[in-house]
Amino acid sequence: SAPHLVIVGGGVGGTATAKYMRMLDPSIRITLIEPNREYVFCPGSNEVLNDEVTLAEQTVTYDSIRNRYGVNVVLDKATAIDYDKKTVRTAKGERIAYDWLVVSPGPDFVFDAVEGYSRELAEGDFPHAWKAGPQTLKLKKLYQGMRTGGVVVISAPPMPYRCPPAPYERASFMAEWLKEHNPTAKILILDSKPDFIFQPHYETYWKEKFGYGTDNAMIEWVGEHNGGKVVSLDPNTRSVKTADGETIKADVINIIPVHKAGKFAFDTGLTMGKQWVPINPFDFRSKVDKNVFVIGDTTEADPMVKTGYLASNQAKWVAQVILAEMTGKDPGYPLWTNNCVAMAGEDFGMTITDTFRYHDGKIELQETIQSPVNLNPHLNAERVAIARNWQRTFRRDIFE
Ligand code: FAD
Repeated sequence: SAPHLVIVGGGVGGTATAKYMRMLDPSIRITLIEPNREYVFCPGSNEVLNDEVTLAEQTVTYDSIRNRYGVNVVLDKATAIDYDKKTVRTAKGERIAYDWLVVSPGPDFVFDAVEGYSRELAEGDFPHAWKAGPQTLKLKKLYQGMRTGGVVVISAPPMPYRCPPAPYERASFMAEWLKEHNPTAKILILDSKPDFIFQPHYETYWKEKFGYGTDNAMIEWVGEHNGGKVVSLDPNTRSVKTADGETIKADVINIIPVHKAGKFAFDTGLTMGKQWVPINPFDFRSKVDKNVFVIGDTTEADPMVKTGYLASNQAKWVAQVILAEMTGKDPGYPLWTNNCVAMAGEDFGMTITDTFRYHDGKIELQETIQSPVNLNPHLNAERVAIARNWQRTFRRDIFE
């Protein structure tokens, strides 16, 4: 029978692999293992917080992947890999044989990097909302419902984490809503980094809109070099402690946790004792087994950042590599791009494009182009339109 590609994880990386593999080859059998019936896109999910989009608009199904691309979608959780027998086991007890396995389970979180924080608290009154879904709605309810003049603390994680500009985009969208509905409220970003991507862009916009840098600033940012790193959380007093020993009380606390590889990658030994999955930088094959490819946020693919755009580019390349192996042809050379759009408000946008190539046995950043800081409203309206178009096109590129 036809060779069988099995994919673990129906997020951006896994679903893009399924779709693009089918586009390259009509005969290969493709199975996608994913426990959830629907997928909620993270790109755009910060805008749920200022009521610009709904969570429903962020949500897609596997109908096209199943019906249009002939992918067998198995609603189940993968639990183990037998590398010798080339099978994946699932929580419901199935054993699925593969010729190639692509693994894209996304990241997991190191909750106890902040003492006192936990998965349970994240699912309760301290949502991280770094996986779009119910926690996004919870965070929105909490900060929109806080008292007049309330304080939101956002704890931004150290690198690497998925979507580097997203904590600052989140703060900006919250501020936009608060400025209208609770103008004496404050957002304090406590950062585990000394600086962040698009910092000049965000700071310029925050100065213009939110009095950034003045006593009446709605957004304040404290970098790691000024003791901004959050080290512990006390859920009872609703307060955090920073590295320099300061205790800060807040009405809403949003801790974006330290990231690590997905649980499945740890359970199957793919992480090889590390925090992230080591891969062969040419073709994203696991270093544990050559028939297993690992892509997306869960990999150690420096200097690539963890974005959906790169996960989808890695997926398209891996599909080419598998096709080359099936047909005995040379796969050629990869050129990956990261096309990142971010917003600071409904009237301020920014873009960055990175190009990566494989060179001298490693992944190399070839070029980065960033849109310059500019307060011209026409230009920014255009950038916001680009960002919105990107979100729509990207969702369709992966799931339709
Ligand atoms: P995911 O998309 O998270 O998919 C992982 C999938 O694997 C999930 O569906 C999960 O259910 C499934 N899974 C996990 N374990 C198992 C298992 N054992 N068995 C079966 N299935 C399993 N990226 C951009 O490019 N642009 C943006 O503008 C952008 N904005 C963002 C904004 C926010 C707020 C956040 C949090 C992220 C943003 N990202 C953005 C990043 C982007 O969402 C991720 O980089 C992308 O989703 C990574 O794809 P992935 O396949 O690695 O993981």
